[in-house]
Amino acid sequence: MAINPVLMIRPFVVRELKWESAETYTLVLSPVDETDAIQFAPGQWVYLYLHNPDGSVWAKAAYSIASAPSDGSRLEIGIKIKGDFTKRASNLMPGDRVDLQGPFGVFVLPPGDGPIVIFAAGIGITPFRSMLRQLNADGKERKVTLFYSNRTVEDAPYLEEFLELAKRKDWFKPVFNLTQDKPDIGTWEFGRLDSDMIHRHLPEDTKDTMYLMCGPKAFMDMIKQALSEKGIDVKKRLKQELFG
Ligand SMILES: Cc1cc2nc3c(=O)[nH]c(=O)nc-3n(C[C@H](O)[C@H](O)[C@H](O)COP(=O)(O)OP(=O)(O)OC[C@H]3O[C@@H](n4cnc5c(N)ncnc54)[C@H](O)[C@@H]3O)c2cc1C
Repeated sequence: MAINPVLMIRPFVVRELKWESAETYTLVLSPVDETDAIQFAPGQWVYLYLHNPDGSVWAKAAYSIASAPSDGSRLEIGIKIKGDFTKRASNLMPGDRVDLQGPFGVFVLPPGDGPIVIFAAGIGITPFRSMLRQLNADGKERKVTLFYSNRTVEDAPYLEEFLELAKRKDWFKPVFNLTQDKPDIGTWEFGRLDSDMIHRHLPEDTKDTMYLMCGPKAFMDMIKQALSEKGIDVKKRLKQELFG
């Protein structure tokens, strides 16, 4: 009987480990064999397996894919250091072997051409980085507003990339929300993200606007409330990914 390809455990090699901030890094991975490349939709996630020196599995954890299908078989995941697993993964070196399994998940780029409003807190940006890279590669000019919450500019993974994209593409409007920083960058707000801030920057709601969010539960509860206050049917049009 054929194995479901999603459940296959595929060998990958670490190409690079790039620090994005003091606490977050990107693992750049490529399949040992091109036939093991993972076909995924932007927003999906994989299990990352780390090994013991004897090659046996030490542990696995779930990570949203932070690169896009348009990036080819090379796959990136963005990791925030928390406990033992993420510390151990931060010691990976170019040439090290890991395994990946997947892709999993239904939190993907909404179909169609309707506007998208994204809310991300910190490392919750990873599925959206994948979506934005794919939209950029597709050149479709689909309207995207990104609310992105962090403590400081230095803390915010991939912020430079989003600033760069916003400079080049009119369809992309980021609103950076920083709780401990008053930087000199594009559109930003100081303080915790709340209903007022959201309402100030929310683009006009259209029938086909989809809302996506990823962050801590309290952050997402607040967004749900803020959108409901605007009469948006959150049950139908707000999708979430929870990293818990
Ligand atoms: C769908 C989804 C997507 C996610 N995407 C991301 C993402 O893009 N970026 C991100 O940073 N996080 C993401 N997460 C969270 C991620 O899966 C981890 O929960 C997070 O990185 C916590 O890491 P940790 O170091 O605290 O690991 P832990 O939660 O401590 O451990 C992870 C695993 O390692 C095992 N383990 C830990 N320590 C040991 C030990 N000493 N010996 C043996 N086994 C051990 C645990 O039992 C567990 O199975 C996502 C979660 C989900 C559910």
